[in-house]
Amino acid sequence: MPKKKSPPKQEPQKNHSLKTAPEKKPTPETPSHKNPQQETTFSHTQAQLQKALKHLKISEDAETLLEHPKESLQVTIPLRMDDGSLKTFQGYRVHYNDVLGPTKGGIRFHPQVSLDEVTSLAFWMTIKTAAVGLPFGGAKGGVIVDPKSLSKKELERLSRGYIRAIYDFIGPDKDIPAPDVYTNGLVMAWMADEVNTIARKQIPAAITGKPISQGGSQGREEATALGAYYVLKEHEKANSWAPKKITVAVQGFGNAGYHITQMLHDDGYQIKAVSDSKGALLAKKTLDPKSIMEHKEKAGKLEGVFCHGTVCDLVDHEKITNAALLEADVDLLILAALENQITKDNAKNIKAKTILEIANGPTTPEADEILEKSGSVIIPDVLANSGGVTVSYFEWVQNKRGLQWTEKQVHKKLKPIMTSAYADIAKIAKEKKTDLRTAAYIHALKRISQGIDDKGTASYFQG
Ligand code: GLU
Repeated sequence: MPKKKSPPKQEPQKNHSLKTAPEKKPTPETPSHKNPQQETTFSHTQAQLQKALKHLKISEDAETLLEHPKESLQVTIPLRMDDGSLKTFQGYRVHYNDVLGPTKGGIRFHPQVSLDEVTSLAFWMTIKTAAVGLPFGGAKGGVIVDPKSLSKKELERLSRGYIRAIYDFIGPDKDIPAPDVYTNGLVMAWMADEVNTIARKQIPAAITGKPISQGGSQGREEATALGAYYVLKEHEKANSWAPKKITVAVQGFGNAGYHITQMLHDDGYQIKAVSDSKGALLAKKTLDPKSIMEHKEKAGKLEGVFCHGTVCDLVDHEKITNAALLEADVDLLILAALENQITKDNAKNIKAKTILEIANGPTTPEADEILEKSGSVIIPDVLANSGGVTVSYFEWVQNKRGLQWTEKQVHKKLKPIMTSAYADIAKIAKEKKTDLRTAAYIHALKRISQGIDDKGTASYFQG
């Protein structure tokens, strides 16, 4: 078990400039469910689904239902800015499939959010929760906003406004939101408080990823990284790796990226390169994640680390681009930023032979094929980052039953879920002679399609 580290501050809590975002006029859009040729992120999810369906037979009903989200909500959130003006922001919440239980998934605040992206993320939540065997379906939410351009008070009003807009669409036995990119425990605390205010009673199980004082679970903060760490340790064992000999590059130095880097650093892995949205650095010797994070927090971005003498003195490093980080000559590449990072355009330049996906959807299906041919192994998002939603499930169970588990209890429950999911998926990959992503989908689809069939399929109704 890795030692607990003091968590880094989350992005939205910093940089509260009073300036507002440049006027953005998002246009409503519909994801392409029908035309897989069109290069949308949703078309990637359907290509992944079709690839897995070559290996298992599911009922026509199940296949049809998995091709579309169950329901999608688009809302306009009015926000009173600090200067008195009124702005509006577009928000979404998508329930993809709820056959295995209430839908579950985070809320993203990001300028690039779109209905296509949120639908894709909701699909991946459906696969992810089923792959690890949680009694949940998949959902996702998002608001088109650059949270760094809002003041803290504006961010609070936006978070509460989003909940007011989607209130009837969520609930502890219906759809349970959680943090995602650029949202964190504080945002969840505001959202949970808004739920309670509207309901005029406490409904702690309505939102997960809350601060401990608000009914959050111990271990939720580092859960995504810890889950990925447990999975990687199984992979390390299966491949007889000596950690000290493994060089690592990490794209994305947010919550999950930072924590996994620290855990691997503690185990002796050589951290060679890290990046955030503003820049990347490559070191000759191993980097120290903690001191990088301290400097990143002071500077507000990783790039600022170059201006601080201490880190420059500590390690001999050079500034590289984010694109170069992905192509760094390392053994293990950790993708902990956003989707569509490795595409057909850069896949052939990737040197890492193992890729750990902590972000959702960082590798496109075309890139998957290229990497597979070049002998790279991808530990897929739906397995590698499922520790976050698993501890969210623990939080939901504790809230519903009035329990408070210790961090040790949480870790003890998380580890077997992650290690057995890895074992099951690796076994399917071996049996079906396929990659780990397809194996994870097969594993998940068996559960989902069983759920759909158990409610009655066409063959039942046709006698
Ligand atoms: N946003 C995280 C994910 O993509 C966590 C979701 C949750 O805890 O419900 O898995």
